[in-house]
Amino acid sequence: MSDDIQTIKDRIDIVDFISNYVKLNKAGANHKGLCPFHNEKSPSFMTSVDKQIWHCFGCGKGGDIFKFLQEIESLEFVEALNILADKAGVSLSKASKADTSHKSKILAINELAKKYFEKALFKTQGGKKALKYLKDRGINEKSIKNFNLGYAPNNWEGLTKFLNKTGFSKKDIIDAGVVVSSPKGGYDRFRARIIFPIFSVAGKVIGFTGRTVINEDAKYINTPQTILYDKSNVIFGLHQAKADIIKEDSVVIVEGNMDAVMSNQAEILNVVAVSGTSLTEGHLKILRRYTKNLIFCFDSDNAGILASKRAIGLSYKLAFNIKTVALKDNKDPAELIKEKGEKAWQKLISKPEGAFEFLWEIAIKNKNIKGIEAKKEIIIELFEVLQYIVSKVEETHWKQEISKKLSIRENDLEEEWERMIKGSKVSNKTVIDKTQALPVKTSDRLTFDKQHLVAIYFQYSKLFSDKDIKSKVDNIIKKDLKSWHISKKELKLKAEMMWPEKYLANKELNRIINDFKHIERKQEIVSSLELEND
Ligand SMILES: [Zn+2]
Repeated sequence: MSDDIQTIKDRIDIVDFISNYVKLNKAGANHKGLCPFHNEKSPSFMTSVDKQIWHCFGCGKGGDIFKFLQEIESLEFVEALNILADKAGVSLSKASKADTSHKSKILAINELAKKYFEKALFKTQGGKKALKYLKDRGINEKSIKNFNLGYAPNNWEGLTKFLNKTGFSKKDIIDAGVVVSSPKGGYDRFRARIIFPIFSVAGKVIGFTGRTVINEDAKYINTPQTILYDKSNVIFGLHQAKADIIKEDSVVIVEGNMDAVMSNQAEILNVVAVSGTSLTEGHLKILRRYTKNLIFCFDSDNAGILASKRAIGLSYKLAFNIKTVALKDNKDPAELIKEKGEKAWQKLISKPEGAFEFLWEIAIKNKNIKGIEAKKEIIIELFEVLQYIVSKVEETHWKQEISKKLSIRENDLEEEWERMIKGSKVSNKTVIDKTQALPVKTSDRLTFDKQHLVAIYFQYSKLFSDKDIKSKVDNIIKKDLKSWHISKKELKLKAEMMWPEKYLANKELNRIINDFKHIERKQEIVSSLELEND
């Protein structure tokens, strides 16, 4: 076994290998980069070609190539050994092969399922329809093979029966997530869906996303949480894109898997997708191993715009450099590439705009920026995202920009900003532009607070234990929701962006509810006064 290990070390260059995960630069005899195991701004992660070892002077972690793979992919030694032996073309002696770990079994089951789906795409009737659908969307056969796309037949037991014959236990098959447990033993999780396998950075299948081809309600379903698959840490396309992300020193982040595949086909290769889920800190921390430069290109609908704002806020918090690409009259990158061609996409990506410009355009949309109300709304909208900027220099720069654009004195904006940070929203006492002071109407404030309450209720319903408040919110939903012209999805996104759950659970929800009650009472008084006046 120790012979095997030495042969593997001899055959795989440690700098090459680690470069799959960390951007390394030559520094004397060694290579240096940002440590993937702790947060840092200046590199203290060293790799030595001579000694074939790595060490971080920031967090103290270090070791050989096996240790690195174990740490970064959370593997046991035997699993890392198998992967690296495979890579080095070393066939392991019997002793090292005796590998019964649970993770390896699940990897093997996923690999079998992937092959089953791939075959079904080309060999079944339903698969041929799915293939036509993919081609109609503009995806060619080369991309289908590159991304190992497949098809799950419209059948409850196809994959289940296939896997049962392979000798894996029922429990392992269910643990892999492709079969759902049932009294009869189990049934296929994915049915009548185009399948996108999700690869780990090391290139192993850890899960799947299935897109419906018969217009079921759930457009996408994913492998549930398994020992390998955690959706807040999974990035579609990273395995295929990582070398290009390092080469370009930037990553294009899109929403849909289809967008990532189409972009790859259009030769923009440094692209990944968040697979329709919201971007998380986990995603960003993984991407930071490769680059600090993000280019967001989310869908152009309202939900996409909210998702972009949220993503920009999160990325500011983690000190990324952020650019954005706005799609204007196409709904997503896949559609743009199909309708306008690969060149159009390449051109867009080559000239991304700054995040501030993007946020500004959204904030002023349909507003008369000379009006005091509009100015307040614009400041709130920008604040929602810009508050996360870590760099004081950058923050000051944008504040100056805002005060110029809105003709507000810098000091006044600064004051307003402080107030918002302390948690008090713009209230009727606040005067931003002293020449045009106008109190905010109580009815507007009430709508504002109602929307916040409903948004939080949709997103975090389990936090609402008070029956009285619950029925109030239900009433608002019945009476007011329609007139706001905001979808449930958008409200949920808004809540998620503005109030992290931890923050809410801890007193903040009470503050919002009290605020609401207060405004509600005021509204009652105001309307009774109005009645008296009549
Ligand atoms: Zn470290």
